[in-house]
Amino acid sequence: MRALSYLGFRKLRFVHAGVWYTWPTPDLLTLSSLTGNRGTPQEHAPPWDLLVGSLMKNAPPSYECPFCRIAETLPSPTPEAAVVLVDADVFALVPTHHYAGIKGNCLVLPRGHYENVLDIPDNLGSEFFRATRRLAHAMRNAFRCEGISTRQHNGPAGDQDVWHFHLHVFPRYSNDGLHAGQKVPYTNEERIELAASLRVALR
Ligand SMILES: [Zn+2]
Repeated sequence: MRALSYLGFRKLRFVHAGVWYTWPTPDLLTLSSLTGNRGTPQEHAPPWDLLVGSLMKNAPPSYECPFCRIAETLPSPTPEAAVVLVDADVFALVPTHHYAGIKGNCLVLPRGHYENVLDIPDNLGSEFFRATRRLAHAMRNAFRCEGISTRQHNGPAGDQDVWHFHLHVFPRYSNDGLHAGQKVPYTNEERIELAASLRVALR
């Protein structure tokens, strides 16, 4: 980062790797105290990681990450983890909930802990796309779904509620009501069975 400037009261602007970014920040005082900035912002640009981290960290200090707990068991997860695939740096599982009654949805996750899209390393991108593509084929094979959707949430305002980056992959059907649908828990048996169906369909 080479420069930082404030735009009005609740926004700041900075350049990183030649690209200008504008961020809303909920608390300029917090940013200021973290960076020790007491002068003009341009003279006291904080380290990139510190700036990014200060903007969207929601996991409490003692957070016991449920996805890390599963990642630690790889490549031999318990059946209850409903893991579908394991790659070098990412894995996929059937989560604890489905939406709008559409079953067979999956999460793709990094095996390492990264809280959200602000943290995720660039070099995981190809594994995320590879896993997503493989799951999409498996969902078509296993469930004969008509479409596939992905979505990914960051921060409470972005509907994130587990503080470990995850990408949702959904099988879709005409007029299935996914986006307005209720979030409903699976039984463990359902998750284990769906994960087994998807693992077979991956081959
Ligand atoms: Zn984690």
